[in-house]
Amino acid sequence: MLNKINQKLNQLNRASQNVNNTSRNVQNMQRNIGSIGNRNNNNRNNRNNQAAAQPEADPSWKCACGMVNTSKFCGECGGKPIMCADCNIIVETKFCPECGTAVGQND
Ligand SMILES: [Zn+2]
Ligand SMILES: [Zn+2]
Repeated sequence: MLNKINQKLNQLNRASQNVNNTSRNVQNMQRNIGSIGNRNNNNRNNRNNQAAAQPEADPSWKCACGMVNTSKFCGECGGKPIMCADCNIIVETKFCPECGTAVGQND
């Protein structure tokens, strides 16, 4: 009689241990999923930062006099970079590469 009760108690203990293990596994899985998501987000952020930083890394422009400048005005003749009024970008060629508008002096 006592043996049978002990056997049942053992079974119950084993069953509750299994439940504990299962919930622990679920927690571990959630932690794993969370860390994977964080890693992906970090990668995406890094890529975005690099892409956003690139245009600022090389602000140089070529003046009409041939001088390449990184400042607002030409260090050689004091001229300003030729901007496309529509696109608000520095245009070193006769036509804006973005919209094709002729920029600069008419000669
Ligand atoms: Zn110049
Ligand atoms: Zn333009």
